[in-house]
Amino acid sequence: MDFHFTPQEEAFRHELRTWLEANRPADYDPEKFAWEMDADERFRCQLEWQKRLYEGGWIGVHWPREYGGRGATLIEQLIFHEEMERVQAPPPANVLGLLMAGPVIMHWGTEEQKKRYLPRILSGEEIWCEGLSEPGAGSDLASLQTRAAEDGDVFVVNGQKVWTSWAHRAQFCQLFVRTNPEAPKHQGMACLIVDMRTPGITVRPLVQISGDAEFNEVFFENVRVPKANLIGGKDQGWQVLVTTLMFERSGIGLDLPVDSTFHQLCTLVRRVQLNGVPANQDAMVRQQIAQFAIECKAIRYNVLRHLTRRLKGNPPGPEGSIGKLAGSELGVRMAAFASQLLGPYGSLALGEPRAVERGKWARIALGARSLTIAGGTSEVQRNIIGERVLGLPKG
Ligand SMILES: Cc1cc2nc3c(=O)[nH]c(=O)nc-3n(C[C@H](O)[C@H](O)[C@H](O)COP(=O)(O)OP(=O)(O)OC[C@H]3O[C@@H](n4cnc5c(N)ncnc54)[C@H](O)[C@@H]3O)c2cc1C
Repeated sequence: MDFHFTPQEEAFRHELRTWLEANRPADYDPEKFAWEMDADERFRCQLEWQKRLYEGGWIGVHWPREYGGRGATLIEQLIFHEEMERVQAPPPANVLGLLMAGPVIMHWGTEEQKKRYLPRILSGEEIWCEGLSEPGAGSDLASLQTRAAEDGDVFVVNGQKVWTSWAHRAQFCQLFVRTNPEAPKHQGMACLIVDMRTPGITVRPLVQISGDAEFNEVFFENVRVPKANLIGGKDQGWQVLVTTLMFERSGIGLDLPVDSTFHQLCTLVRRVQLNGVPANQDAMVRQQIAQFAIECKAIRYNVLRHLTRRLKGNPPGPEGSIGKLAGSELGVRMAAFASQLLGPYGSLALGEPRAVERGKWARIALGARSLTIAGGTSEVQRNIIGERVLGLPKG
């Protein structure tokens, strides 16, 4: 396998670096963004950055030009991710539109839907959320109960979603509903584009242990959705859902901040003392850091392997679960190692005067755990890898 980039790919990297040098906000401080700004300030910063990326033609880089993308290759998209991580740029605002709704509309949507929604996802004009999980349907999404009854040329939606990230900021929701309660549970489902301003929708924020409220409960009461807003066929909801999850898992795998957490951990071990010497001089610490470095590299090579499938024109497959599982679990272990090094100081909250590095490690530890749940839990990823990648019998 040749891991070198072609001259064309290196030229792409050079062009992007030049653009980033000129356009990355001069006063942007990633530590301040992550640990000092409140949620609204962070969102404004992300939106501004997304607009700048869009104007420069640097968002959705591998999306087709006709829908506002740059028409770059998937390898160039990977280079784009590497460069964004290198300069520690803020994430764009429309995370779920870019990760899931956009790619799914590109794959399943009508030409009209592509023209209507994709450019506004890229520009950040319209923020999207994802309505999959329900109180009785998380890992087992085929059990979802939110009902869409047909009434002429509309669906009338009733039910509840939960853990809906960004619903409080979103203009649109990619919503999964049951169209036929009599059909077997993997059938009789549909995927709808729902305008969040439609009467009958109530969004209630869920406050997390960290104090943030980035996801919500969403209630639907007689919400009328035009049939023209179906993504895929009326009974193809399950297939659209599987495509959505594959894009989510492979995208989360690609976007996980493993390298950035690793570099922050390296800074920490230089800073803190262990038995009277800097922790980075301790043999056990060095061995553990080396092990984390190896795992970060293995995850990167797995991402490249996964890209091979995509380069052949296929949507992401179940292999995406490997990167998601390995990266999210590594994040938890790196954060736990930092907490161990910090001892009792590790549990001091953000902004506590005695906290080391502003108290960010307690936050990183909480955030890392959530990534082992979002997009399907680690147990579910293990099942997928066992059954669908390795071909093992069902447990
Ligand atoms: C940060 C974050 C953001 C999220 N954003 C969204 C969003 O925007 N939209 C959305 O729809 N959802 C979202 N979710 C919800 C997420 O997809 C679900 O939490 C997840 O799929 C698990 O479902 P559940 O919480 O219902 O847990 P359950 O499915 O009830 O699982 C409970 C436990 O049982 C285990 N388990 C379940 N089934 C199996 C099995 N077959 N084999 C082995 N173990 C099993 C699980 O691993 C878990 O430990 C988000 C979650 C998080 C943490």
